Amino acid sequence: MNPAGLYIHIPFCRSKCAYCSFTSYPCAGHDLDGYLAALTQQATQMATHPCVRERTFASLFIGGGTPTVYDGNQLADLLKTCRSLFRFANVSEISIEANPNTLTFQKTSALRQPAPYYESGGI
Ligand code: SF4
Repeated sequence: MNPAGLYIHIPFCRSKCAYCSFTSYPCAGHDLDGYLAALTQQATQMATHPCVRERTFASLFIGGGTPTVYDGNQLADLLKTCRSLFRFANVSEISIEANPNTLTFQKTSALRQPAPYYESGGI
């Protein structure tokens, strides 16, 4: 079975650009924590499906929206959740869409966490 790519959508931005046709909403007035909790719940359910359980993922892309509206700990937890639920190839590409004005040293440091599972060939 060919490796697949895993896409996670974060539909929030600091504000909604007039020209944007992506599924995105301004952070204000939306439950960002609730969305992350629901996302984790849905990913946990999907990971048990045979079509997903038997897959090896070659890439993970967290897009949006602006995923970096979340803080570093939340983003690191999201990565950890994905790593614990899904099997990744030894050499995997992990990318996140970012708006430069939402990036901080704390966020980029949190995202640059070690991934020992790569060396063991997945979970
Ligand atoms: S996804 Fe990009 S273009 Fe669309 S509202 Fe957010 S920042 Fe603007």
